[in-house]
Amino acid sequence: MSLKPGAVIGIIGGGQLGRMSAMAAARLGYSCHIFSPEAGGPASQVAAFSTVADYTDHAALRAFAEAVDVITFEFENVPAEGLELLERLKPVHPGARILAVSQDRLLEKQFLNDAGIATAPWVAVHDEAGLAAAVQALGLPAVLKTTRLGYDGKGQAMLRAADDATAAFAALAPKPLVLEGFVDFAAEISVMVARGADGTVVAFDAVENRHKHHILDLTLAPAPLPLDLLEEAGAIARTVAEKLELVGLLGVEMFVTATGGLLVNEIAPRPHNSGHWTIDACPCSQFEMHIRAVAGLPLPPAVRHSDAVMKNLVGPEDMALWPQILATPGLIPHHYGKAEARPGRKMGHFTRLFPKGGLPGEFGIEDGLRLTGG
Ligand code: AMP
Repeated sequence: MSLKPGAVIGIIGGGQLGRMSAMAAARLGYSCHIFSPEAGGPASQVAAFSTVADYTDHAALRAFAEAVDVITFEFENVPAEGLELLERLKPVHPGARILAVSQDRLLEKQFLNDAGIATAPWVAVHDEAGLAAAVQALGLPAVLKTTRLGYDGKGQAMLRAADDATAAFAALAPKPLVLEGFVDFAAEISVMVARGADGTVVAFDAVENRHKHHILDLTLAPAPLPLDLLEEAGAIARTVAEKLELVGLLGVEMFVTATGGLLVNEIAPRPHNSGHWTIDACPCSQFEMHIRAVAGLPLPPAVRHSDAVMKNLVGPEDMALWPQILATPGLIPHHYGKAEARPGRKMGHFTRLFPKGGLPGEFGIEDGLRLTGG
């Protein structure tokens, strides 16, 4: 059943992903109701309704569910009891099972491997003896990670020597942890994939992601890599969506190994920073695809009309450039409406489009990102 224009979509989480989802929903004639612990955040600024309450406030979650027609997320770490409550009251897409898998790196890796999808080698770590055994099994270097609540490189430590293990084990919480073999990757890529209520699956082109200080800096769309590799990445993302019986949108992050293999690092069951380029380069963006999937609308092909480079604007240094960005011809600016530019905080992004098939090489990209205005 599809939602009629005028219906209200409930979005859990109040950040920029919710903001851009709500803007896409508005174009389809829907209103959004944002549930977030923070008042006046990026999503609430552009939504008709807001609830300001903690994710553990069951009375507020119940009232929210009663006020909306369908519920989705831009923030996936909602405690399980709250999700169960929401699912009893309204359709929730993606469902609690998918959120449970993506909230927990151990469940996530087990799910991926069971689906025949390769990941970095990994071992669950429950105590220090277990860590020593995991180091023996995987060798060094390796990456020790929390299994829950990690993002943008938080909740992880690189182990280069056996001596690093004790301090890293003590520093990381909550337990359990997971030790992953270090992947000497040639590139990091991702694919945004959506699955509709009718089982239609569409995947955007694989993109390359480059990070600065563990935070996404640039996305190149499409990834400048061999076509067969990009197709394989798309096939992996489709398999993930199908095996999870997803209704909604998810991002699949992968490493391209030195030998041209693909290893899935993470899945995120929501719009993703590496999909922001689709707003400007695709007839139907990741946000519209997300809203269409949760509203039961048909999913159009995830095609692009242009190649694109997306640059994140992080913290006060990048935001100091905002006037210049606005004055540089060809840059498409996106501001998230956050009041305060704290270091490391994603404040906005800009996109530069190139003719389809015309993404330039490294010098051209650098040139395309140069600010000339102001
Ligand atoms: P994550 O929190 O899992 O998304 O990891 C954040 C970043 O750390 C990734 O985007 C990679 O750049 C790096 N990273 C994570 N896991 C590994 C690994 N097993 N080997 C090498 N680099 C990694």
